[in-house]
Amino acid sequence: MIAPAVAPPSQSGIKDRLDVLQETVSASRLNCWQQCRLKFWFRYVLRLVKPSAPALYVGSIVHSVLQSWNLGRWRYRSVNLEALKQTFHENWKEEQVEAVINWQGEEEAERTTGWALLETYFRDTPITLDEKPEAVEVSVEADLSEHGLPKLIGVIDLVRAGGRIVDFKTASQTPTVKKAQHLHEAQTSCYAIMYRESTGRKETGIELHHLVKLKKPKIVVTPLEPMTDNQQTRLFKGIESYVAGLDREDFVPSPGLHCQSCEFWNECRRWS
Ligand code: SF4
Repeated sequence: MIAPAVAPPSQSGIKDRLDVLQETVSASRLNCWQQCRLKFWFRYVLRLVKPSAPALYVGSIVHSVLQSWNLGRWRYRSVNLEALKQTFHENWKEEQVEAVINWQGEEEAERTTGWALLETYFRDTPITLDEKPEAVEVSVEADLSEHGLPKLIGVIDLVRAGGRIVDFKTASQTPTVKKAQHLHEAQTSCYAIMYRESTGRKETGIELHHLVKLKKPKIVVTPLEPMTDNQQTRLFKGIESYVAGLDREDFVPSPGLHCQSCEFWNECRRWS
């Protein structure tokens, strides 16, 4: 079902929205922009609300449990597996109160998958129970005005002791290092810039922790080097393109493999 959260915005409402979207930029907005500008238009300018895909819901609940686990270590509280399992089931129920999920009869199977991913993570993670994080789920930003760019904003999942930035992801396929590095470069570069601005230090590395949904779930930790100057330049050029594209209201579709999971397929087919 297509259900706009609010009435479609007026012309002046759209102009205001575009102004707001140019004042700041985040990794998720930039990712969406770089994937498909028409999708960006539906999601961030018109703000159409669609039922969530089960995979996204599983990812958000898994993420919330990992957050509890990280916070527990940060506060020197012991968090055992049973308590985490309880948190998982509570969050699973509570988050659905406000959400519409297109389960298609698969809720129980998805719930089982979600907990299996977490059990696997807690068994195989390289993070030990006594490792105190440097930061957990921390809001960060970076003033890029000296580069003529909007402020960068975001939330970092975890910073391990010694300045290693960690981002958690759920995936249905095993990532390769090259692919993970390429696909998530804009995001990891955003985090590196915000970390440096917030702490005055360079990150010592970046880790992508993938929880992979296979018959036998597994975790894949991809360690990446600190952001290079070249990666920073690529990110800044991407943000420049984002600002210029919003300025000229360039919202053309970019059809590709990613369309298979696009929630705006019907709207896209009606676009001209
Ligand atoms: S279906 Fe594809 S081209 Fe259309 S809006 Fe979605 S991602 Fe873009």
